[in-house]
Amino acid sequence: MRVGDEIERGDGATGRVERFYTDNLGRPIAVVHWPDGSHTDHPFAGDGGWPCNDCGAETTPCDADGEPIEGQWEKYYVRPEVWEEAGLQSPLGGYLCIGCLEGRLGRKLAKGDFDPDHPDNEPCSLYSARLNERLEA
Ligand SMILES: [Zn+2]
Repeated sequence: MRVGDEIERGDGATGRVERFYTDNLGRPIAVVHWPDGSHTDHPFAGDGGWPCNDCGAETTPCDADGEPIEGQWEKYYVRPEVWEEAGLQSPLGGYLCIGCLEGRLGRKLAKGDFDPDHPDNEPCSLYSARLNERLEA
């Protein structure tokens, strides 16, 4: 990800990366400007990475050739109230692996926690076993 790149958030709005800074834990953060005039800060791992805010695990890992690694992705959109219950700014505010999101919530996720209309919430071979299980639970 670079300055000027576009990223999409849960509601389909497209934002543009304005700049990067380093937070107090030394993590690179991308500042994204949205069409409605708001800004959000996104943790940024490097080449297109999206690390979990809490454990730092890459949520969309790719191999050395840049190909997505099957069975390891945890890309999903929970309902805004679930994300806010976990203490994160909606719609994004960062990224969490399934284990860390469940840790923050103090419970296991179920199908009803996910946005039923978002295309990323379809179980697939790219996703981890635990994410597929929650999407179908
Ligand atoms: Zn995590």
